[in-house]
Amino acid sequence: MSIKSLIRTIPDYPKKGIMFRDITTLFGDADGLREVIDAMAGEFQDQKIDVIAGIEARGFIIGPAVAMALGVGFVPIRKRGKLPAETIEIEYDLEYGSDIIEMHRDAIIPGQRVLVMDDLIATGGTALAAIDLVQKAGGDVAGCAFIIDLPDLGGRKRILERGVPVFHLVDFDGE
Ligand code: AMP
Repeated sequence: MSIKSLIRTIPDYPKKGIMFRDITTLFGDADGLREVIDAMAGEFQDQKIDVIAGIEARGFIIGPAVAMALGVGFVPIRKRGKLPAETIEIEYDLEYGSDIIEMHRDAIIPGQRVLVMDDLIATGGTALAAIDLVQKAGGDVAGCAFIIDLPDLGGRKRILERGVPVFHLVDFDGE
């Protein structure tokens, strides 16, 4: 089965009009899981990545697996108030209101080449905030990687305009 066919789509979750792309079915399949991690690791193995920064929560599923395959460390980017040591934060706009993500202040050594990972890119708001956070910590964002891109929402383009390369494995039309 292909990676795309192993991703389950749940219509109208968490609200009407959203087609939720559920990667738990992909990760629950041994071959699917291996294929995703191999493809990601294969893409970045020659790119001198020093550390992977994964975005809560589904970036915590894929990020450490790819980090192990590349032989690098993993750093969590979390929602506000979850990290125990001193943090740096970035506030970013949502459809309604705003949100804050945080990273430990000492998680990245300035100059390290960081790969930012999440399961899916839609508008790109979350990933752009993560890029800002890594750069604020002094990291060099070597790229962003996602399993899924929703090209109609334009996030990938927005990140490319920031000069950051974007890699993804599959895309789906619509929201
Ligand atoms: P965005 O900031 O708009 O790029 O949204 C990306 C974040 O929202 C990621 O962490 C995704 O896990 C989640 N997300 C957005 N749209 C979907 C969707 N259709 N299916 C599953 N997750 C989504």
